[in-house]
Amino acid sequence: MANDCRSRAQGILLGLACGDALGRPVEFQGPDRIKQTHGQVTEMLAHGTHGQPTGTITDDTEMALCIARSLAEHGTFEPEDIATRFVDWKRSGPFDIGIMTSSTLQRIQNGESWDEAGQREWEASMEGSNAGNGSLMRCAPYAIAYRNEPTELVDISRQSSAITHADPRCQWSCALFNRTLANLLTDVDQPLERVLHEIGSELPDDVRNAVEPIETTLRGDSANISLENSGYVVTTLQAGLYHGLTAETAEDAIVDAVMMGGDTDTIGAVAGAVAGARFGEGALPERWLTEIDEADELRQLATGLIERQH
Ligand SMILES: [Mg+2]
Repeated sequence: MANDCRSRAQGILLGLACGDALGRPVEFQGPDRIKQTHGQVTEMLAHGTHGQPTGTITDDTEMALCIARSLAEHGTFEPEDIATRFVDWKRSGPFDIGIMTSSTLQRIQNGESWDEAGQREWEASMEGSNAGNGSLMRCAPYAIAYRNEPTELVDISRQSSAITHADPRCQWSCALFNRTLANLLTDVDQPLERVLHEIGSELPDDVRNAVEPIETTLRGDSANISLENSGYVVTTLQAGLYHGLTAETAEDAIVDAVMMGGDTDTIGAVAGAVAGARFGEGALPERWLTEIDEADELRQLATGLIERQH
């Protein structure tokens, strides 16, 4: 049982990295173009979008690493430390960074306080560009550390989102996603149904309406789901949960997510975290993991977060 939980926890962080690195070279391309050029993307590719070597992770995993390292070091959620790590990472000049993340972290660099910058940036943003998936893609480490504390997991997931993404749709997408991961980690039957039962009434309508049909599908009833590949948090949550929870293997979940095109690395990362939690790290293809330089650190961090004492 303990081993099983560890394998699922490692699966979350490694699955996230696999989806991120598999999707990176085809990010922003449409599904038809990806198919024409590569057929199915089943191998880690070099170059492509962002022109990076095989197995290179992007901001999704880099920011999840900031969170996981902070949790491992402090044993608890220290939002100011996490904001500082985000700023240090931005200063390192990453090849990919989201618009809202970049502008909010710039505010903090300019002296605004970490707990107000996200809210101010959100208030200054227009509908249509105020609810991206930039906090969802990085939030999975909390699900491991707070898997047995459901109320804290919701609060922390929301607070962590608000550092850069204060929109309620972003905050609640992180909360719902992490509660689903925590249920998978602790072997709860019908993990998504349980979350909807427990916090469904608190969710913004857009989030609930996107996720309920997935639950219907998992129950075996027919539901009308039309997945989209944009960077909008609600569609990314929906696509990631759909592939992660319905695919027959971890590899299928991640490949199918990447083959949607568009925001491939983030949809892949979200689907990968779910699939890793469902199937465990042993289900992730070894040929992918060997290409990811951070795999050992991700494995160690997952183990550390499982054993976290506080
Ligand atoms: Mg990315």
